[in-house]
Amino acid sequence: MIFFAFSPDGAEAQSLRGSRTVQAQQNRQADRENLTAIKDLAQLRRFVRAGLLVRLPNDKNIVVDPRLDGRYRYCRPWTRDWLSALGRAYRKEFPKSDPLVVTSAVRTAAYQGSLRGRNGNAAPTTGLRASAHLRGSTIDITKKDLSGRELTWLRNYVRLFKAQNRGIVIEEFRQAVFHVMVFKPVPKKKK
Ligand SMILES: [Zn+2]
Repeated sequence: MIFFAFSPDGAEAQSLRGSRTVQAQQNRQADRENLTAIKDLAQLRRFVRAGLLVRLPNDKNIVVDPRLDGRYRYCRPWTRDWLSALGRAYRKEFPKSDPLVVTSAVRTAAYQGSLRGRNGNAAPTTGLRASAHLRGSTIDITKKDLSGRELTWLRNYVRLFKAQNRGIVIEEFRQAVFHVMVFKPVPKKKK
């Protein structure tokens, strides 16, 4: 597709497959950004009070899955900004479609541990294979109920985002979501 012709590393940047390598990449990135892996709800609440975690968007373009526990409806500020921009672009393309649905955002190690108990597919809570959701910059957007056109548009949008090296995206099939880690924007140097 011509759309991605400028992609810096070609086919590699377009692949949305998950792997151990991609898992480790996410943790190395989060380490470089000094993002704490959230241990428990007390720490999550402290991060919210300090403004280090903010509410997910919940508007006419992007909504939160009603099944997501209210205590976990937070993400990093730049992830919220990215989601809002995605929602606006999606709405522009599909004025009459239902909003996109965020199904998961920040998780605590305790919560991730309980997911692991229920779902053998869930990532561990420590080490290079730990879930990127612990850092707060990662969210999941469901593919369920999207039409073919909507899904293709969303896939292209996140592919371009990844090709621009602004984040890491994995297209998951067991959970039917796009798993997206948004990189912390680097402040522009003053001239
Ligand atoms: Zn995820």
